[in-house]
Amino acid sequence: MALRKIVVQGDECLRKVCRPVTEFNARLHMLLDDMKETLIDSQGVGLAAPQVGILRRVCVVMNEDDEIIELINPEIVSAEGEQTGLEGCLSVPGKFGIVTRPNVVRVRAQDRDGEFFEVEDEGLTARCFCHELEHLDGHLFVEHVDRLMTEEDLEAYIQEQEEMEEDE
Ligand code: ZN
Repeated sequence: MALRKIVVQGDECLRKVCRPVTEFNARLHMLLDDMKETLIDSQGVGLAAPQVGILRRVCVVMNEDDEIIELINPEIVSAEGEQTGLEGCLSVPGKFGIVTRPNVVRVRAQDRDGEFFEVEDEGLTARCFCHELEHLDGHLFVEHVDRLMTEEDLEAYIQEQEEMEEDE
């Protein structure tokens, strides 16, 4: 396994529509293993293949039990509810924004051997499914935000949220 370099906003790879995976071979398995290692190393919760310069429909998402789900050729089959919260991206370092997403998301995908499966999750993991799947079509979360926040803005925002909770 090896760490892959994460490309950042401005790189052409992040604007491309990725191609489906058709061969479930050792090369795909190596990509998945490398992406998982890169995700853990970067302390993120999700990573899509175009973020490491590979224009294929592959992403990995860490759920709230710290399990990494491998999604190949994923599609959202249902989405319910709404959540509004903070979002960031390993390809947009140091910037954050408030994004509204569905609260429960069900995804159909293939595993590393090509078997179809479905996975449903809520909250942060549902947000992550939406965020990673968008990468496969060349989109970034920044397209959904009115204003990008720096880490300083973020600290102020978190403090504000905590104060609001204390008042409740
Ligand atoms: Zn991202």
